[in-house]
Amino acid sequence: MNKTDNQKTTLPIETMRHSCAHVMAQAVLELYPGTKLAIGPSTEDGFYYDFDPQGQHKFSELDFVQIEQKMKEIIRSKQEFVREEISKEEALSRFEKENEPYKLEIIQDLDDGTITLYKNGPFVDLCRGPHVQNTSEIKAFKLLSVAGAYWRGSEKNPMLQRIYGTCFLTKEELADYLLRLEEAKKRDHRRVGKDLKLFTTSPEVGAGLPLWLPNGATIRRILERYIVDMELAEGYQHVYTPVLAKTELYKISGHWDHYRGSMYPPMALDDDELVLRPMNCPHHIQIYKSEGVRSYRELPLRMAELGQMFRLEKSGELTGLSRVRSMCLNDAHIFCTEEQIHEEIIKALQMVEKAYKDLGFTPDTYTYRLSLGDRNDTVKYVDNPAMWDKAENELRVVFKELNLPHYEAPGEAAFYGPKIDIQLKNVLGKEETVSTIQVDRHLPERFQLEYIGEDGKPHQPIMIHRGIISTMERMTAFLIEYYAGAFPVWLSPVQAIILPIKDSVNDFALNFHLELQKMGLRVNLDIRNEKLGYKIREAQVQKIPYMLVIGEKELQENKVAVRRRDGKDLGAMSIDDFKSLIQDDINSKRSRFE
Ligand SMILES: [Zn+2]
Ligand SMILES: [Zn+2]
Repeated sequence: MNKTDNQKTTLPIETMRHSCAHVMAQAVLELYPGTKLAIGPSTEDGFYYDFDPQGQHKFSELDFVQIEQKMKEIIRSKQEFVREEISKEEALSRFEKENEPYKLEIIQDLDDGTITLYKNGPFVDLCRGPHVQNTSEIKAFKLLSVAGAYWRGSEKNPMLQRIYGTCFLTKEELADYLLRLEEAKKRDHRRVGKDLKLFTTSPEVGAGLPLWLPNGATIRRILERYIVDMELAEGYQHVYTPVLAKTELYKISGHWDHYRGSMYPPMALDDDELVLRPMNCPHHIQIYKSEGVRSYRELPLRMAELGQMFRLEKSGELTGLSRVRSMCLNDAHIFCTEEQIHEEIIKALQMVEKAYKDLGFTPDTYTYRLSLGDRNDTVKYVDNPAMWDKAENELRVVFKELNLPHYEAPGEAAFYGPKIDIQLKNVLGKEETVSTIQVDRHLPERFQLEYIGEDGKPHQPIMIHRGIISTMERMTAFLIEYYAGAFPVWLSPVQAIILPIKDSVNDFALNFHLELQKMGLRVNLDIRNEKLGYKIREAQVQKIPYMLVIGEKELQENKVAVRRRDGKDLGAMSIDDFKSLIQDDINSKRSRFE
């Protein structure tokens, strides 16, 4: 256990969830004797326990009713959690006798000295606690799912069966959570991404390396054009840099010391060693240095790139588009003077606010977090207390000046400096860091950056790292879930579909299709020999904003009958009226029809 674990206080809900994991293991053992126990911690919104039924049983959700029934019996019988301290030798011999190989492995790795056990009823588990006083304090729980999990997270180890559950202080809170979980499942970007043909994966390409299909690529292209245009208007210069570099570059930057665990292993090439980049900053620094001596007149110098990066996320944590090993970041580095920091941070925050408004995020969906360093942790963070104090205060001043509500989060900074993180709430109400603004004096120092000041003397510039709409992968995943696939018209992969009713109107439909395409609209034409009702249902499933029906009557009147994906029938309108309707949706970036 490391230091931070001991310092962490345990909330009542965490204690209850973890106690519930004990009760679940106890129930499983009673129902499936001989099952071996691994670990059973509480998690952010529940708990799990890893089991090895020794090939005797494969758990499925069909078992849950029975296990939950047994758990209720245990809870009702008010079994007290009793702590016991024994020596390591005794612990080893006890779990040897119980034939619990995973527990033995855990005990062997513990320091010599006392080992704590917790006993409730006939059930004993190796555990540091804390727990509830007795089992009847567990008020509302539910088993949720079962999945495979490698022992200690390593593919080299046996595959165990992990049962997930959750537990809340009240029945109402549990019901509310289960409802949100149901909604989240419907919106899961992996599910919607498959239904709407947005992205796919291939075992031959590898885990965490998604492939963008034409529909998903369209959303990404719109996002990329949107943010690049905004940056150009804000005085940024766009660059392209390679996705790999010599390891030497990351030794200078400090990534090699502080970040190597998240980097791909280096590859040897002639006498060099190259590595896929985990961040774009060192490349941009080389561009800053490429022009020889910079003058204060060139600052602030705002350098931006849609930069592809590579991070070695654990295979068990990879998820669709949201946790990947290769990602494209809307990245920029602002090289500026001390005096310019304040204004540049404010400008970056204003860009975040504008982008969120355009993407349709309402103010209740995001919060501002000031992510601080930890003066005692010189492994994770560069050791320079004065630098940290200064940078953290600069960010506090900005919040104060803009009167922005925010909270402070120690231990969440980048290794080289504190940052402002903008946290978006996902469907489950969980926060994810999306945008970030960081003030950095460390990298300019490491790379000995300079500019000549007004005084004719050399000075060190400050670097501000900032990302407005995050990685294209993360933002797209977020948008899919936020809109449940019903994207605003300006982001929709297909904005309208033309549905001719009979062959005699096909020419008219074809011309109309060409006309809309020429306007830059993304329109499909469906001339298949299918019933209109079928075509409409299919277009609704694909969440296409507008369905444009053309029959003999529309042909005669030079009109289209317009239906929206939410089922609303807008009736027949002239072609020009439809054009201005959809153009207005796009120009105003209207986010919802309702
Ligand atoms: Zn425990
Ligand atoms: Zn950076």
